[in-house]
Amino acid sequence: MTQNYDVVVAGGGIAGSIAAKLLAETGYDTLLLEACKTPRNKVCSGVQLPYMEKLVGKKIPKNKLCKNELNNIAITTPSGRRISGKFKLLNYWRSDFDDWLNSLAIDSGADFRNEEKLIDFRDNDRCLIVETSKEKIKTRFLIGADGLSPTSIVRRKLRPAEFSRKVTGTAINFYYKGTSELPKNSLELFYRRNFSDLMYSWLYYKDDLLVIGTSSKEDPLRSINEFYKYVHKRYSIKGEVVRKEGYTTSCLGGIFLGSGNVLLAGDAAGLLDLYRGTGMDSAAISGRIVAKSIIDSNEKTPIDVYHEKISKLVKQLKKNNKKQQLRYDNDEGLENSLKWDKILLAQAKMSYFTILNKFQPPEKMSLLPP
Ligand SMILES: Cc1cc2nc3c(=O)[nH]c(=O)nc-3n(C[C@H](O)[C@H](O)[C@H](O)COP(=O)(O)OP(=O)(O)OC[C@H]3O[C@@H](n4cnc5c(N)ncnc54)[C@H](O)[C@@H]3O)c2cc1C
Repeated sequence: MTQNYDVVVAGGGIAGSIAAKLLAETGYDTLLLEACKTPRNKVCSGVQLPYMEKLVGKKIPKNKLCKNELNNIAITTPSGRRISGKFKLLNYWRSDFDDWLNSLAIDSGADFRNEEKLIDFRDNDRCLIVETSKEKIKTRFLIGADGLSPTSIVRRKLRPAEFSRKVTGTAINFYYKGTSELPKNSLELFYRRNFSDLMYSWLYYKDDLLVIGTSSKEDPLRSINEFYKYVHKRYSIKGEVVRKEGYTTSCLGGIFLGSGNVLLAGDAAGLLDLYRGTGMDSAAISGRIVAKSIIDSNEKTPIDVYHEKISKLVKQLKKNNKKQQLRYDNDEGLENSLKWDKILLAQAKMSYFTILNKFQPPEKMSLLPP
């Protein structure tokens, strides 16, 4: 056993880096562990609303963003209706973005180790013993920000029954080099259950590469093939696939924030929102809140403080998950959820909450679109 820390954070993604940054700058001895060699790739579209900068707490440097800006968003409904609008979006490669987040944690004083994996942890007389691929470490708190991929350990150890032997969700991205009729500034989202039984499918550019992606719980290969054929024809795509990537999870559980001195944040806590099709913003907010819960816990335990501070976000996510399950029951429900009156109401709410968020501290911001 070589070192003691106040907090060990497992996972150098969004939730982990932001939590480690806040804890270290408040004076906590913090270790941020990342299993992969950095900069590491994370299967992700890397698209977010500009409010992500406030959630991170810093303006994202221009060289961390893709060369092509996204300022138009269009959705295609199951019946083929296309609704589009001007909207500025952030577009980045997760390797660049997360590497930058890691550097913010390091600059704040956190120790950072990449290529060092959390293997196990156990309670030991008022502290935790954390075992990594290199050594054993003593810590007061462990934050599981290690996502929900097959290598993620923390939630699996706390709630093994929530993990199936089978894959329960898959997401696939194909990267295309060539030509298409899609403008480079547009993000196209397609709501069709034969393309994805989970959420929308997507088409847009990252630098010079066209990204064609979808997700599925039942049959990912059939979904990507159908979507691929459809967009190929509709956008006259010509060229070749230069990269394919996939992400799988086997978690069946919903939101779970941890227990005792082991707290979960981001995907590991089940905060991915299929209704909005995003998870990076809730990973960032939960990374902040989990750190503040440790910092602000006086008479109460950090896990109790965490439950209180994150209740607004949890409520919104639970509501969204219910809405998503209902509308994905059939194409009619999905089409109905995208009717003009609903879109107009969503736009009005979006404008209202965008203004409101400007006056809120990051931890209290509402997830967008609302
Ligand atoms: C195909 C796809 C597209 C997506 N597109 C978007 C999008 O456009 N916008 C959006 O908002 N969200 C998107 N998401 C969701 C988003 O990627 C996640 O919600 C977000 O990355 C969660 O961040 P996190 O920090 O919780 O976990 P992660 O980003 O998964 O980070 C977890 C980190 O933990 C590390 N790790 C794993 N196991 C261990 C271990 N044992 N020890 C140490 N470290 C470990 C991993 O290497 C990783 O770096 C997408 C997801 C997918 C699959």
